[in-house]
Amino acid sequence: MIVIDLRQENGGHRRRQNLAFLREQNDGKLMAKKMRAVQVSRAGGPLELVERDIPEPQAEWVRVKVDACGICHSDTLVKDGLWPGIQYPRVPGHEVIGVVDAVGERVKPWKKGQRVGVGWHGGNCGYCDHCRRGDFFACTVALLTTGISFDGGYAEYMVAPAQALALVPDELSAVDSAPLMCAGVTTFNALRNSGARGGDVVAVLGIGGLGHLGVQYAAKMGFKTVAIARGKDKEAFAKELGAHHYIDSQASDPAAELNKLGGAKVVIATVTHAGAMTAVLGGLAPNGVLMVIGAAGPLSVDPILLITGSRSVEGWYSGTAIDSQDTLSFSALSGVHSMNEVFPLERAAEAYERMMSGKARFRVVLDISRK
Ligand SMILES: [Zn+2]
Ligand SMILES: [Zn+2]
Repeated sequence: MIVIDLRQENGGHRRRQNLAFLREQNDGKLMAKKMRAVQVSRAGGPLELVERDIPEPQAEWVRVKVDACGICHSDTLVKDGLWPGIQYPRVPGHEVIGVVDAVGERVKPWKKGQRVGVGWHGGNCGYCDHCRRGDFFACTVALLTTGISFDGGYAEYMVAPAQALALVPDELSAVDSAPLMCAGVTTFNALRNSGARGGDVVAVLGIGGLGHLGVQYAAKMGFKTVAIARGKDKEAFAKELGAHHYIDSQASDPAAELNKLGGAKVVIATVTHAGAMTAVLGGLAPNGVLMVIGAAGPLSVDPILLITGSRSVEGWYSGTAIDSQDTLSFSALSGVHSMNEVFPLERAAEAYERMMSGKARFRVVLDISRK
């Protein structure tokens, strides 16, 4: 295996030569079995472009020829070794869109040639107590996470459990769909499980990678949609996304502003600052729910607010394969789009840094077929 460090600034031409050389070394048959992948070989190590054998799918798994893969903040779990027990080398990537390329034994009903997505939830046992109750995300026996338990989508090919596949509608492109496999399903699924009904006041706190999708989904689901962010400059954009109201949390008290609208039935908190979440709690209507999907530090909650209004704070995990499929289908139906910055696979390290900078508008996607 040849490892090429993408951090080297002036090595681009040499790298291409090396890869070309490698390919020439193989005869036609061997060459067809190689692929490019970007891996992390140790905790805290760089993203490295490597040539690997194209993997074969085991029973109940499929091989996917990857067209696009989103870069998610959770990929830091792989890059920085924050996931307990993670084994290296590991190819990150859990926002994968591609085409079924080969199927293992006992795979039903997937067929070669179908367009599929693979998201965070890579599989579960199906027979532990949590699985038997339908809480697949909490499986205690064989919970698989794409790009962590097995290699993900920063590669030309990957293998995945058939259980992890979502069908991709024809009208969605691979690059458009990729972020919907994590950022999309997380916001869509949180909203549709929030208890809000058509016409209810639903606020989305934060307009970033998650929030810009959350505002669109909330509006398309028929909620009276309120976007909350810092600064007057984001108002026009929030309204373009479909928000009916905009609250500038720097210029006003977001809780007071929500109360002027009758209080929020649901606030979906996409921000990573706990203080910003605390600041909206007083704007929840009676029985209102703060749904937390942004990974923030410890959250301060006034119990009096919870008690007097029967309000609650809850978290929401992302979703399983069928939730991702529903997300893609709803997005195609209603015209919800992720705004993406697109990079080729070779520039994965640069793309990852762009995601980490927090400056990307709004998701970063690897277009694997692009050179
Ligand atoms: Zn993710
Ligand atoms: Zn289980």
